[in-house]
Parts: sequence; structure tokens; C-alpha cells
Amino acid sequence: MFDKLKRFISERAKWKKAGSVYRTTNEAQQLFEICKKCEHFKKKGPAEGSCGICGCRLTRSKEYFNKLAWATTRCPLEPPKWVEMKGFENIEVSEEEMQIEEASVTKEEQEQLNNTAAPAKKKCGCKN
Ligand code: SF4
Repeated sequence: MFDKLKRFISERAKWKKAGSVYRTTNEAQQLFEICKKCEHFKKKGPAEGSCGICGCRLTRSKEYFNKLAWATTRCPLEPPKWVEMKGFENIEVSEEEMQIEEASVTKEEQEQLNNTAAPAKKKCGCKN
């Protein structure tokens, strides 16, 4: 399994375990402003880009394929430039939960992941 898909599965397993909570549009916009100024941000349009470290899609919107929209995500840098919403820190997923999540990835999701930029080949402090 390639790294970006594995990271997506891990992040989604955490997010689902925490109740699939979204940040508000305003919160996603605030994080997008931080990312936009980051040296690792890869711009794709006025309101869209991707993270050059983890490869995740970043937008201003409260939408499913946006790392900034999920309450359980954090910036992969160490120290991070932004973190999970309060109350959503340190959510662990078991190997069994990862396997269930892996089995649920659709072909459309894999294609969507292939359309975002490849992450940089450098260590960032992520567990995955
Ligand atoms: S997630 Fe972190 S490293 Fe990635 S672009 Fe945003 S601020 Fe930069």
C-alpha cells in the first residue's frame, strides 16, 4: 500500500472513531490561511492546495476531501503549526480498525488521492 493511501486510511479511521466531526467553515478557513503562508504549501488554485509534507489536500471549505476540515487532523511538522480540535487529541486506532478502514476505501477515493500532489520524501514526525 502506498504511503499517501496508508496515511489517509489512518487519518480517516481516527476521524470516524471520534464521530466524524468536522471543523466549521470558519475554522477550516483559518487553518488554510496558516497553510497558505507555509513553505511546504503547494498551491493549486486561489482556494486549494496540498501539503508538501503529507500530500493531503487543503482547501478553505468544510468538505470531505480536505485535511483542514476534519477535527482530528494536525499539521505533520514537529512542532506542528496547527493541531487537532480540543478534545480530539491522541485518538489511537487498533490494527483491526485499520484493516476494516482499509477494506472500505472505494475506487473513487483512491483516484481522488492520486490526483493530489505527492508528498516530499523527507521525515516529518508523522507516525505513518
Ligand atoms: S499542514 Fe503544516 S506543513 Fe502542511 S502546508 Fe499546512 S502548515 Fe505547512
